[in-house]
Amino acid sequence: MGVREDIQALREKLGQYNHEYYVLDQPSVPDSEYDRLMQQLIDLEDKYPELKTADSPTVRVGGTVREVFEKVEHKRPMLSLGNAFNETDLRAFDERVKGALGKEAIDYVCELKIDGLAVSLTYEEGRFTIGATRGDGQTGEDITENLKTIRSLPLSIQTSGSLEVRGEAFMPKASFLKLNEARIALFDEPFANPRNAAAGSLRQLDSKIAAKRHLDIFLYAVGEAPEQKQSHSEYLAYIESLGFKTNKERHVCSSIEEVIDYVARWSTKRIDLPYDIDGIVIKVDSINDQDQLGFTAKSPRWAIAYKFPAEEVVTTLEDVDFSV
Ligand code: NAD
Repeated sequence: MGVREDIQALREKLGQYNHEYYVLDQPSVPDSEYDRLMQQLIDLEDKYPELKTADSPTVRVGGTVREVFEKVEHKRPMLSLGNAFNETDLRAFDERVKGALGKEAIDYVCELKIDGLAVSLTYEEGRFTIGATRGDGQTGEDITENLKTIRSLPLSIQTSGSLEVRGEAFMPKASFLKLNEARIALFDEPFANPRNAAAGSLRQLDSKIAAKRHLDIFLYAVGEAPEQKQSHSEYLAYIESLGFKTNKERHVCSSIEEVIDYVARWSTKRIDLPYDIDGIVIKVDSINDQDQLGFTAKSPRWAIAYKFPAEEVVTTLEDVDFSV
């Protein structure tokens, strides 16, 4: 097969996996396999730029917007993140950032990469008005009623004007196991993993079903706010002070060595967490620096997602504990 055919075959496969993952909430391959094929495609397109196309899966964020939910236009696009798979990638990211900013040292915020569903929450005059999925990044689905069933999500806060916060809705491991046990007992297909269970639950047309699924949410970014801050860590402290749930394991690192230590620590500690994480997100802390670095078509240049090496497999019936 020639390169052209290889590229075409990869695009078709990734297109199918995207559909299964984002639209059907039923992936047929583990994320590591998807990431491996995506990396192959990125490498081939880098090597043969003349074969790049505007509709390649490498330039898209992913999701498709379904017809059943109202559409929500995001005021600012909800982007994806560039990936790092090893220490070399992390050091290369650090070099790129330092090079572009002409700085010797950078503060990075390290956060757990929660394996759930990216959502945007809008508050007007302190009242929760719209909750949306990321969708294709420009347009998401209105899942406000389902999000309201998440107990840790404040329905009203002390702000005036418009506030948009972004975060990850997820299903804790314990809720996931219970849900799948119940589904198996009813001869329903179990969910592949907590991420897909969370996505499936938030796309229920009847919010009573979502309410029974015991979802949770961590907020990790501010889209639009009545108050401006100098750093990402100050924004996190700010939204926490408003009553949003943020992840406490975040840490500000003043060198890439510290970032690498944090990543190594969580590579083993993650097993003890009550929710799934699939990596670590590393963000430049200074908002000035973020603004200077800007964005590519698909992701910010001031952040990167380190992905843990594959150990995850798509959950099969044998993996599920049947004991009650
Ligand atoms: P991504 O998973 O590489 O990273 C971006 C996402 O990270 C954000 O949208 C947000 O939802 C999440 N996130 C979690 N914690 C965060 C934090 N603290 N700060 C910022 N963001 C945080 O990119 P993606 O575009 O969401 O998804 C692509 C990934 O999905 C692939 O790399 C692959 O692993 C998986 N995927 C798998 C299949 C499959 O068939 N198995 C198909 C499509 C996609």
